[in-house]
Amino acid sequence: MVDFSGIWDAAGELGKVLLPTECVGCGAWDEEICDTCLAQMLGCPFPLQISEDDDNVTDVPVFAIAKYDGPMRRVVLTGKHDKRRDLRAYFKAAGQSAVQGLRSENLLDTGKFGTGGTIRGEMFVVPAPSTHLQDPSEVAAAFAQGAARGLVAAGLCRQASVLEILELATGSTTQAGLGWEARNLNRHGKMQVRGSTVVAKRELAGKDLLIIDDVSATGATLREMIRVLSGLDATVLAGLVFASSRRETPVSGTQNFEK
Ligand SMILES: [Zn+2]
Repeated sequence: MVDFSGIWDAAGELGKVLLPTECVGCGAWDEEICDTCLAQMLGCPFPLQISEDDDNVTDVPVFAIAKYDGPMRRVVLTGKHDKRRDLRAYFKAAGQSAVQGLRSENLLDTGKFGTGGTIRGEMFVVPAPSTHLQDPSEVAAAFAQGAARGLVAAGLCRQASVLEILELATGSTTQAGLGWEARNLNRHGKMQVRGSTVVAKRELAGKDLLIIDDVSATGATLREMIRVLSGLDATVLAGLVFASSRRETPVSGTQNFEK
C-alpha cells in the first residue's frame, strides 16, 4: 500500500480543525473531512475507460479516484459551489496521493513514462476548463496543483507546473443533465487554447502532459482536451479525474449523468 504520511506532511496547510464539526462528506460529527472520507479521497486510482472507436485517444490511460456518489459527491459539490477554500488542501492532497499511487502501484505505462529510466526535466498538468468562466472550479485547480507536486514526489519529472491553457469557446454550456451522445456533441470542437495558439504551441510542443478534471461522466471533456493538446504537438501521457459519475455501460442518449 501507499504510505500517505509524507503526503499529509507535505500538504502542510491542511491545518486540521480541532473544534468538532460535521464532515462535509458524510455528516459525521467529526472534523471537516472525517478519516473515513479522507481515506476515500486519498484512495488509489482505478482505470477509467474513455475511448471511442473512431478517435486517437484510445492509448491515453485515464484514472479516477472515487465514484461520484454519496460522501465524495458532497465533498466535490461543496468544494465547487460553496467556495470552501478550506477544502482546497484536501483536494491537493488527493491529487498528490493519486499520482504517487499510480507510480507505486505500477499503473503507469513504463514505456511512456520511462519510469526507472532517466527522469524527464519538466511536465505540465493541464486542468479542464470550467464552464463557468466567472466561477472556475476550485476543485480541479487544487487537484491539479496536488498532481503536479505528486509528479515530482514520485520521481516522474524534476519540475511540474499547472498550466491553465484551455478555455471553452463562447456559448459552451454545462454538461449537467445531458446524455452520452449529447455530451460528446456539446464538447467536440468547443475547446480552445487561451490566447495565442502560436505561443501555446511554442511552449507546449514536445512537452509531456497530465490532464485533470474534477468529475468525469462520459470522458467527453477529456477526449476534447486530448484532441486540442495533441494539436499543439504536446503528448498527453495520462488523464486523472477525482470522481467518475459513470453509472453503467453507456447506451446512447438514454442515460442521465450528473456533474
Ligand atoms: Zn465523512
